[in-house]
Amino acid sequence: MKLPHLEWVSQDSPYLRQHQQGFRALSFDDELEQAFKRYHANVFLRRMRWALLVATVLALLFVLLDVFNLPDPLRGQVLTLRLGIIQPMLVVVWLATYRPALRDHLQLIGGIVALFCGLAVVGIIGLARYHAFPLPYEGIILVTVFFYFLTGLRFTTAVLCGWLTFVAYVAMELSQGLAGETLASNAIFLALANVIGSVGCYSLEYATRQNFLAHGLLQDLAEKDFLTGLLNRRAFTERAERSWRQAQRERHALGVVMMDVDFFKRYNDHYGHAAGDEALRQVARVIGECARRPLDCAARYGGEEFVGIWYNLNQQQMLDILEKLRTSIEGLGLAHAYSDAAPVVTLSLGLAYLTPQSQQSLEDALRLADVALYLAKEQGRNRVVMKTPVVSGLEPIR
Ligand code: GH3
Ligand code: MG
Ligand code: MG
Repeated sequence: MKLPHLEWVSQDSPYLRQHQQGFRALSFDDELEQAFKRYHANVFLRRMRWALLVATVLALLFVLLDVFNLPDPLRGQVLTLRLGIIQPMLVVVWLATYRPALRDHLQLIGGIVALFCGLAVVGIIGLARYHAFPLPYEGIILVTVFFYFLTGLRFTTAVLCGWLTFVAYVAMELSQGLAGETLASNAIFLALANVIGSVGCYSLEYATRQNFLAHGLLQDLAEKDFLTGLLNRRAFTERAERSWRQAQRERHALGVVMMDVDFFKRYNDHYGHAAGDEALRQVARVIGECARRPLDCAARYGGEEFVGIWYNLNQQQMLDILEKLRTSIEGLGLAHAYSDAAPVVTLSLGLAYLTPQSQQSLEDALRLADVALYLAKEQGRNRVVMKTPVVSGLEPIR
């Protein structure tokens, strides 16, 4: 999927930034690069498996051809290379594609195996030369094309495999004393196969990177709040439900928190809407920084209200985090001359602390957090108030 013109998108997204920055060298900024590698491994996993299957079938066909065509002792030596190196290596990568733990290393494993197979084919041609048997060298071109287009290897790995095999081939022919003219012609054809493969493989990876960015940007546009970059309410509900179910299964505690900026209408009225937006961005950034573990999440619930969920912390840890969050918002030092709570922008937080039970729902917990927030407002704002279910964990929350 090619990205269309995106001048209309003003949302801050790492995918959009990378798109604008470009990636002609086929590399992204660090964090995105890691995510891309995982994306690529998943996208090309099936292709890799099919390629390995095809390679195995082809290699077995070549075994049959060799059994019938090659004279002794060449036959034995070639079959040793085919059945001793090429076949087992193909099986090893095929098995590796089924081990999730190895998924991050498939390029390395695939690259090493591809290179060994390329060198083994060079070895086979070399043995044929040694025994003066006219084995066509074109097999090495087939292998090269295979590297670039079928294996799912990324550009750098495929290029390394292709060109190293090329060098090995030329070195082998030189050592076997192939006539200069024939060698030059073979080398030119093989080099051209590598050039075509390199260009094709570059385009393929470039397009895959474009897809990755388009995919990520679409997800950001669908899930993130336009102004603050935090999750939006819909995405929050999905993730929070996930954390909720996991906490229910594993009997872990959850902190469900509603947060609301104090006297924000007055802030807007006196400092202007643009300053209000900027204040919301800064508040959101601090909230986001406090909810970074995988099962925690924070979102903009709407207007100047935020919501968060924190996973498996004890009550004291939970209160400590929220207290730190509250003081960090104060610490932003955003002057608010018309607030009755403090001379700066502040946040009120309502915490529902509970271990979810089967008869309770996330909405129940959000309602309880809202009650706590209401109390925080009533008690003077700029504070954290905690509520727990009436009969802890045994009844639906009222
Ligand atoms: P309280 O302390 O009781 O929460 O008082 P409040 O003034 O914060 O609450 P109220 O609900 O009366 O006002 C919320 C204000 O938040 C209203 C609106 O001006 C402002 N607001 C909501 N969304 C946005 C936004 O996206 N940008 C800006 N700049 N302001 C917003
Ligand atoms: Mg408010
Ligand atoms: Mg409000």
